[in-house]
Amino acid sequence: MKIIMLGAPGAGKGTQAKQIAAKYQIPHISTGDIFRANIKNGTELGKKAKTYMDQGALVPDELTCDLVMDRIQQEDCKNGFVLDGFPRTIPQAEALDAALTKIGQTMDYAIDVDVPDENIVNRMSGRRACLNCGATYHIVFNPTKVEGKCDACGNDTVLRDDDKPETVQKRLSVYHEQTQPLIDYYKKQNILKSVDGTLPMDDVFAAIVDILGE
Ligand code: ADP
Ligand code: ADP
Ligand code: ZN
Repeated sequence: MKIIMLGAPGAGKGTQAKQIAAKYQIPHISTGDIFRANIKNGTELGKKAKTYMDQGALVPDELTCDLVMDRIQQEDCKNGFVLDGFPRTIPQAEALDAALTKIGQTMDYAIDVDVPDENIVNRMSGRRACLNCGATYHIVFNPTKVEGKCDACGNDTVLRDDDKPETVQKRLSVYHEQTQPLIDYYKKQNILKSVDGTLPMDDVFAAIVDILGE
């Protein structure tokens, strides 16, 4: 099963993608997590990506596409994968389609987690991330057991620099300009499914399982 998660920043793509990965036993591939790991490890890619991410801009397609194409060709992806945060532009979607066509495959589902802009800023200011293991929490909707400490690994949880309200506004406009057109792109391919992302997390997941099957 090959799945794309679509939706605004903070819509809940990562939250749902992790649950999908666990239930259907497929890898969760988050380009944001890959970039943040590179930043943490001080790689060249990380240094380049950071300048864009800090501004709420997209990392250029040249730095993003090859990375994902390599990742989806690894052995653990042979039964499928869930892409979270990729594609984010039409050229990225076209690069993905071209790479899959070459190996005689196509994507199965593009799931749009639909959340209006009004809800997004609150979601993001309450998001806390563990930069050690990638776990994500929310101070109200999904709090850690011990305040400020990751449940999974015990490291500190932080407000991401790019989750501050000024940057969130910028990311939302980038989303509307560059990423939202993908909804039509996948509608035309007949693989678009939408879920109401304003529902509680478990209800959103139940709606996704209805789409993907038990
Ligand atoms: P969110 O979870 O809020 O949607 P991500 O963790 O997916 O955010 O992405 C954080 C940042 O990483 C983005 O704002 C962007 O700068 C960069 N990024 C992640 N994925 C991509 C991509 N596919 N193309 C370009 N930039 C990306
Ligand atoms: P994305 O990957 O789309 O940027 P996340 O999955 O990181 O979004 O979710 C953004 C924030 O909102 C996180 O703090 C997360 O815990 C919280 N969140 C996710 N889904 C829901 C939901 N259905 N209701 C309330 N809060 C949610
Ligand atoms: Zn952690």
